[in-house]
Order: sequence, then structure tokens, then C-alpha cells
Amino acid sequence: MSGCSGNCSTCSSNCGSKEKESLIEPTGEFNNIKHIIAVVSGKGGVGKSTVTSTLAVEMSRKGYKVGILDADITGPSIPKAFGIKTKAMQNELGILPAETKTGIKVISVNMMLEQSDAPVIWRGPVIAGLVKQFWQEVVWGDLDYLFIDCPPGTGDVPLTVFQMIPLDGAVVVTSPQDLVSLIVKKAVNMANMMNIPVIGIVENMSYVKCPDCGKEFSVFGGGSDDICKETGIPLLAKMPIDIELAKQVDMGVVELFEGNFMIKASDTVEDFCK
Ligand code: ADP
Repeated sequence: MSGCSGNCSTCSSNCGSKEKESLIEPTGEFNNIKHIIAVVSGKGGVGKSTVTSTLAVEMSRKGYKVGILDADITGPSIPKAFGIKTKAMQNELGILPAETKTGIKVISVNMMLEQSDAPVIWRGPVIAGLVKQFWQEVVWGDLDYLFIDCPPGTGDVPLTVFQMIPLDGAVVVTSPQDLVSLIVKKAVNMANMMNIPVIGIVENMSYVKCPDCGKEFSVFGGGSDDICKETGIPLLAKMPIDIELAKQVDMGVVELFEGNFMIKASDTVEDFCK
């Protein structure tokens, strides 16, 4: 277009470029974050926070500096999994994240509430505003990987995360029920529409292993293999329903988890970001 200065903020024209204008926001000046991965799911309760936590732990075990931004504002589970009971502090630089026993930096709305079981009854824009604050005002410092535990679904907040934060890619978590598989496609399609590469799919609660005979039972059937074939997206992991993992998440010691289900997923994320 003739006469275009390229600066949409001072231009009154509705030429169409404005719609394409990037909504990416910069993070704080003290932050140097190399890679940012969103962990998303089509619906709640499939284990998205558990996958975020175990993936972050695996990356940290590889020697990387890792952070988790808990953007699941109405259902925050990350502090519980890591046994974080402290409240967020602030200094002249910004909001200080908590540090887990192995040095993973975490921020979550639960660290800001008087009582961690108080419900967050806020409207979408307020919630999205808090995610923005976590992105811009938290002093993350140097991080190799920041994982963002997105709220489930394709609503306001995941959309904000996709638009505002310069993501390298997304990991999609699903459980193998037909209904969930259908909904997971919505999350994959949303990422595609926003031009966010989907790094892979983690099928959680994939099977149960009998502790006596070692036989594996697929409780919910299958599903993710078909989605992966259909979409060409890699299957990163099939994580079983694991009693030890459930216990460790409940006890806030997910960092002690010894299952190796996330090794391939962490390798793939690492390769993807190279
Ligand atoms: P979401 O973030 O999708 O809502 P969560 O990660 O909070 O789901 O998981 C919901 C519950 O299921 C938690 O209590 C968690 O400990 C448990 N859970 C998740 N994945 C597993 C698993 N593979 N084995 C055992 N328990 C699991």
C-alpha cells in the first residue's frame, strides 16, 4: 500500500495489515528465555498439569534451567505437585517465582491467593490479564525452557497465550477416550490456525499395568495412534495410570518420580528446539 510507514500504532487506515499485526508481547527486561513450550489439552482432567510437571522434571534432570508458568488460573495444580506452599514475593525488579527443590522456577495464581483452596471467580479478560502479568512481570532470569500449563479448551486464555507469548511449539495432552480424541483435534486445529507448531501428542492414562503379572490393560481403548496417523503429529508418550505418580503428585514430590515415560517426549522437545 502506498504511503505505508509500517507503523500500525500511529496509522488510522483499516487496510487489513492491522489484523495481521503481531500481538506478541515482550517479556521482562531481566529475562532471557530460550524456548517456550505450551502444554495444552482439549478438555480438563486428562493430566495436562501432570504431563507439564513430569516433562519439566525430565528437562531439569538433563541439566537445563526450567520454569513453569501455570496459566491454568481457575484450576492451578502445579504448586501442589511440587509441594510449593510459599506465596509469591515481589521486589523492585518484579514478581519472584518460587523455586522447587530441584531448582525449577514456578509461578501460579495459587501463590497469590490467601487460601489456596479459594475459588478464582474472575471473568476471561481478568484471567488473561494475570497470564500477561506472569509473562511480563515475573523475574524468570535465564531459562532454557519455560513450560506453560495452559487452561484446557480453546477459550480466551489459551488464545491469549497463543497470541501474546512467542511460543516455539505446543505439546498436546489427551487421554484415549473417543470423546477426548475428538476434542483434542480442536486443540490441534487451534494451534494450526494460530501457526503454532504442534511438537507432539502425549497420550495419558493410556493403560494400567497389573502389579502382579505385568499385563497391560487399555482401560479406555485407544485413539491417539489414529489421530497421530491422521495428522502426521508424532506420538511423544503413552503414559500409564500410575499409582506411584498419583501419590507423588498428591504428596507434592513429583520430582521424585522415577518413571521413564517422559524421556522420549523430552528428547523430542529438545530436538525440535535445536
Ligand atoms: P489436568 O491438568 O488435565 O486437569 P491433572 O494433571 O491435574 O489434569 O490430573 C488430574 C488428576 O489425575 C491428578 O490427581 C493427577 O495426579 C492424576 N493423574 C494424572 N495423570 C495420571 C497418571 N498417568 N497416573 C495416575 N494419576 C494421574
